[in-house]
Amino acid sequence: MVAQWMREAGLEPGLDATGNLIAVLSGERPELGAIGIGSHLDTVPHGGAFDGALGVLAALEVAQAMRERGVRPTRSVAVLGFADEEGNNFGIGVLSAQLWIGEIPPSDFDTITDANGRGLDAYIAAFDVAGVPRVERPELAAYLELHVEQGPVLDADGGRAAAVEAIVGISRTTVRFTGEANHAGTTPLALRKDALLGGAELALAVRDLGEATGDRAVTTVGVFETLPGATNVIPGEVRMRVEMRSPDEGLMDELRGRVARAARAAAERHGLAVALDDWHHAPAVPMHPTALRATQDALADAGLPVRTMPSWAGHDAKVLARRMPTGMLFVPSNGGISHAPGEATDPDACALGAEALFHAVVRLAESDDL
Ligand SMILES: [Zn+2]
Repeated sequence: MVAQWMREAGLEPGLDATGNLIAVLSGERPELGAIGIGSHLDTVPHGGAFDGALGVLAALEVAQAMRERGVRPTRSVAVLGFADEEGNNFGIGVLSAQLWIGEIPPSDFDTITDANGRGLDAYIAAFDVAGVPRVERPELAAYLELHVEQGPVLDADGGRAAAVEAIVGISRTTVRFTGEANHAGTTPLALRKDALLGGAELALAVRDLGEATGDRAVTTVGVFETLPGATNVIPGEVRMRVEMRSPDEGLMDELRGRVARAARAAAERHGLAVALDDWHHAPAVPMHPTALRATQDALADAGLPVRTMPSWAGHDAKVLARRMPTGMLFVPSNGGISHAPGEATDPDACALGAEALFHAVVRLAESDDL
């Protein structure tokens, strides 16, 4: 359907080697590399109509508007519909974007399998869209993505669009408090080593540490297990997982240190042992200064206030930013709802976002600063 819409817009759709949909509007100087614009065409089970799809359609609208107005950009503009961003098939998020930049080599395709053991290579071999030819991936000079915020911030104060400053980093730590499991009746309170007290104190401290950053970090205890987990046994062990997200790497480092100190202090107060394991850290990805400036200026071009915010969720742009100057624009998610059928954005906000994307593309297509 999207390939057909590309044809109706006067563009020639093609599929790359791993199933991403591409349509290129040729610029005056294609040798400078194209400005890639788009998002993903897949969604989650029982998802909404805007996550990903809006970015692809806005990109197509931008290319169509350029063609209809006779705008011939210096760099080419490539409309992109990524095939698999949500990780539904293989449990690997932003898979197509990783394939695009070659982060996963073809030699690894047969090791990536779905729940039924069917490999990525089999999916790719079978993937076809009637009448759409295979094409080489265009060389990209930069990437821009319009996306729904998927959170409540813009909608809460009537914002229509924002430039994204950075996609947040994610840090995950497992904390284990060890005390002494014992009889819940015969052991006086003063003689207990109750692991739950250490865990409970740390859970509250994690919330306070997040709040103390203003809106620069979010902190969550999403897993909290009490062992052995019996009504009449004092908890001998607590295992919890702490997650932190922030657009600011320095702040993430600081928070990790503060969580560790809070855990040790709680352990000491309650006579417990504590062990921490920082098992996951995906660094924050700042948007490229030239691309960020282009998206900010584009908001002003579209008659909108210039507003900048972090993205608290991952996107194709997070991967592409590792290889090329990348920028993002957000439009509101009504009620902050996403990955659910109630996902919605007002048509006028979609239109203003697409207009801002148009101006950002024109700015980057003409930029000497990439
Ligand atoms: Zn998305």
